[in-house]
Amino acid sequence: MTIEERQRKKIEAQAKANWVNSQEWEIYNKDLYDCSICRNKGGSLVVHWVDEYEDYCLFWRDCSCMSIRRERGLLDDSGLYTMQERYKFNNYQTFNKLQEKIKTAAERYIKEAEAWFYIGGQSGAGKTHICTAIATEHLKKGNSVLYMLWRDAGTRLKRLITSKGDEYDKEINRYKNVDVLFIDDIFKARRKNNELSVTDGDVNLAFEILNYRYISRRKTIISSELSGDELEEIDEAIFGRIFEMTKHSEYFIYINKDAGKNYRTKGEKQNDVIQK
Ligand SMILES: [Zn+2]
Repeated sequence: MTIEERQRKKIEAQAKANWVNSQEWEIYNKDLYDCSICRNKGGSLVVHWVDEYEDYCLFWRDCSCMSIRRERGLLDDSGLYTMQERYKFNNYQTFNKLQEKIKTAAERYIKEAEAWFYIGGQSGAGKTHICTAIATEHLKKGNSVLYMLWRDAGTRLKRLITSKGDEYDKEINRYKNVDVLFIDDIFKARRKNNELSVTDGDVNLAFEILNYRYISRRKTIISSELSGDELEEIDEAIFGRIFEMTKHSEYFIYINKDAGKNYRTKGEKQNDVIQK
C-alpha cells in the first residue's frame, strides 16, 4: 500500500469518526449530567491502524464523564433511565384537585431528609409517574437511587434465597443500602374468598428490606394498589412502619376507587384523597 493510499484511508476513517463525534445523541440523560466533551453520548470514536485489516478502524472510547455518571449512580443500573424521560414533574397532569394535592405533596417530599412516600390506588392513577419524578429529582441531587419493580425483583430475590453463596445477600443489600429506593407496585395481592392473598415469602422479603430502611432512616418511595386498611390486613408491622415513616397522613396518599376512575377526565371536580 502506498503512503498516499494509507493517508487517504486515514482521512476517510477520521471523517466518519468526526461526523459521529459531532452529533448530539442523548444516550445519557443530560438533565442529570451534561457533558460538553461527548455531548452525552458517553464516549467518542477514535481512529487506529489495524495491521490485520490493513486499514484504519474505528474504536469506541469511553468519555471521562462515564466514571462520574457511574459514581453518582446516574447510569441505568438504577433501572430508571428509560422511565425518567417520560415521567417528569413538568408533565404530570394536574387536571383536578386530587392531582394537584399529589403533586404538591411530592414536591414537598423531595425536601424531606428521611421520610417515606406512599401512594396507593388502582392503576391508571399516575402513581408510577409521580414516584419516578420524585426518584429522578433525588438522582439530580446526587443520591443513589434504585428502581425495584416488586413483582420482578421480588421473584428473583425469593429464588436467590435458596441458592448457595452470597448472591442473595449481595442483591438484597443493594435494596437495603441505596440512598433512595423506589418500590413499584408492592404486593400485587388478589382477593380470594374475601381474603387478601399475599405469600409469606413476599411479606418476609418486604419486611426485611423495609425494616432495615426504617431503622437506618433511608428514603423509600412505594407505589401500590392497596389502601392502608388492606396493607394493615396483610401485615401490621409493615403497615405500621410505612405509616409512621410517611408521617401518617402527610405522605401517605390513597386514591380511592371513584377518584381513580375519573383520573383521566379533564376538569372533573374532585377532592377525594382519602388517607389510610
Ligand atoms: Zn462525556
